[in-house]
Amino acid sequence: MSDSSGLPQRIARLKELSYNLWWSWHPDARKLFEAVDRPLWKSTHHNPVAMLKDISPRRFKELSEDPSFLRSYDGVFKKFDHEMGTSETWLQKTHPDLAEKTIAYFSAEFGLHNSLPIYSGGLGLLAGEHCKEAGELGLPLVGIGFLYQQGYFHQKIQSNGWQDASYRPLEISRVAIEPATFAKTGEDLISVPVGSRTVYAAVWQVRLGRVQLYLMDTDVEENAPWDRELSARLYAGDEELRIRQEIVLGIGGVRLLRALGISPSVWHCNEGHTAFQMLERIREHVAAGQAFDEAAEAVRKTTIFTTHTPVPAGHDAFASALIEKYFLNYWPLLGIDQSRFWALGCHQESWGESFNMTVLALNLSKGLNGVSRLHGQVSRQMWNHLWPDKKEEEVPIISITNGIHVPTWIAPEINILYRKHIAPDWVNRQDDPLLWQLVKDIPDKDIWEMRQKLKQKLLAFIRDRARKAWVEDQAEASQLLASGTLLDPETLTIGYARRFAGYKRATLIFHDLERLKSILKNNRRPVQIIFAGKAHPADDIGKRLLQEIYNLARDPGMAGHIAFVENYDMHVAHFLVQGVDVWLNCPRPPLEASGTSGMKASLNGVPQLSVLDGWWPEAYNGLNGWTFGREGGENNDGADAEDLYRVLEHEVAPLYYRQDTDGVPRGWIEVVKETIRSVAPQFSMRRVVKEYTERLYAPAINGKKIGKG
Ligand SMILES: *Cc1c(COP(=O)(O)O)cnc(C)c1O
Repeated sequence: MSDSSGLPQRIARLKELSYNLWWSWHPDARKLFEAVDRPLWKSTHHNPVAMLKDISPRRFKELSEDPSFLRSYDGVFKKFDHEMGTSETWLQKTHPDLAEKTIAYFSAEFGLHNSLPIYSGGLGLLAGEHCKEAGELGLPLVGIGFLYQQGYFHQKIQSNGWQDASYRPLEISRVAIEPATFAKTGEDLISVPVGSRTVYAAVWQVRLGRVQLYLMDTDVEENAPWDRELSARLYAGDEELRIRQEIVLGIGGVRLLRALGISPSVWHCNEGHTAFQMLERIREHVAAGQAFDEAAEAVRKTTIFTTHTPVPAGHDAFASALIEKYFLNYWPLLGIDQSRFWALGCHQESWGESFNMTVLALNLSKGLNGVSRLHGQVSRQMWNHLWPDKKEEEVPIISITNGIHVPTWIAPEINILYRKHIAPDWVNRQDDPLLWQLVKDIPDKDIWEMRQKLKQKLLAFIRDRARKAWVEDQAEASQLLASGTLLDPETLTIGYARRFAGYKRATLIFHDLERLKSILKNNRRPVQIIFAGKAHPADDIGKRLLQEIYNLARDPGMAGHIAFVENYDMHVAHFLVQGVDVWLNCPRPPLEASGTSGMKASLNGVPQLSVLDGWWPEAYNGLNGWTFGREGGENNDGADAEDLYRVLEHEVAPLYYRQDTDGVPRGWIEVVKETIRSVAPQFSMRRVVKEYTERLYAPAINGKKIGKG
């Protein structure tokens, strides 16, 4: 074994590239790393930092003398250097006045790559992809978050179907993070007052193309053991740990930017976890001599807040004892007393009055948005009481519908098709709807074959994992069945993967088991379903739903037509959204604020079968997938399930199996093409970040009014 510093000069920049996640969304860069050592590439789950550590000097020498490798190497670095250095960005061309205006983006989680398990679901993915895309468009954005050394948990399912959560310490030297240096102070720690204690945090840096992400980490010697563990895990622990984490994230985050010498023009808070940063900025103004009201107004003007869920559990709320314990010494620094401080976040919860982080953020931000048209509406209704003199439609919460970072989620095989038939540079024009008219020019047979190939790839991935579990974990035979080893590549395959939160109704399709069995085991038109997802370790209801599905997957009565893939993360998500035939989405309306996995599937030609919630009412046009479920009302599970069976049995399956003599189902391919055409440009992160820039960032910087649009 040799260290990557043993790289020959000719290919020495491989190390630099491995430390910039830019490689992860550029197919040529991915291929370059894959060519270094295919088996290691696979066994490290596509982590070039780890891979380069394990490669022998002999192999490096071979590569440095291999003309074809060197050709790819030079090509990748030409592109990399060009993109890092270019001033011809979208922002420069369209908003040159904003080119120097830094945007600070705060989030408790970032989903960037599976080698960095510092995300739990859609919220984190959205944050990570917002940062990736901001860099591509030339926005001078910096991200602020936590490096959770144990990350989010690793999931294993016991043979009785119960979820086991384990935490695996991150091996920092084997992932793409580096210590950050503070140009300003020359020190390497920041300090944050957390109640009566001072907590220190080290700072790490992740490079995302041109964008930098700074992650705080309290596991340093200067801290007491209780504080060292503060940032160990994402969304673990009790309310007190949460408030301590959020103090470090918000207040520490502002101090971190100051230590780096960065003065943001706009401050974007992703969800309420980050809202204490607004208080710290007010404190700075007050310390400089302003009165509280003036300071709060100054902060409000440059603050953007995005709310992500109408589900009450998604909004952190703290009891008064905790607020008193941690802010007793802080509110005097803001020039206000306890009751005025409390009023900033005061909210009536089902269990009494609390200090609600969403309320705090809504009170102290000027630019407010929900994440789909429907969610904007629901949020205006939900928070109308904070604007008692306004009618619901006048509540100043706009909506910017979520999207996905297209280069992160496109399958390489599909990318090749788009390059050939749409445009070689389609990625650069991904949000142009006119360009996507060209999808119709892709030969039906090519799309169909590519879709089949991606399904094969998914099933091979599943078998590979099963083989490993068989050998390494002593998995039982029924667990191999449950993991999907008997899935059939020719069968219509439904995918369902997301967090096991109750409102997402993972078990809806099992409402009437006999009915479902008759659909799955239909001789001429069989159907199979692949599930994946984690339940929060403290959520026993979620774990029971998961267990129910797992046990059905183990049940021979289901004939191998149900599978559960363990440890859903970005790696698994790639295989699933690219490899199934249909993406199922069945939340209880209107609780899914947006949802993004269906967008990832659609981009790859996998149509959605979804209730009309989140982003789907904006996207569904009658030809680009299917919808089911009854309008409005509560506890509609029975009726919704019935409707799902009807659509599945009478629309989806017949269309899939109506294949021409050459084996291509023309009607199906028509839906696939319409799915791609209508979803790809509109639900791209490119469209999203442009919208944030034009509707929120630019008005905040220029002191303009923010409109509903
Ligand atoms: C996209 C994604 C999510 C979010 O999916 P939703 O449809 O919004 O629930 C969650 N986890 C992972 C790993 C993802 O890739």
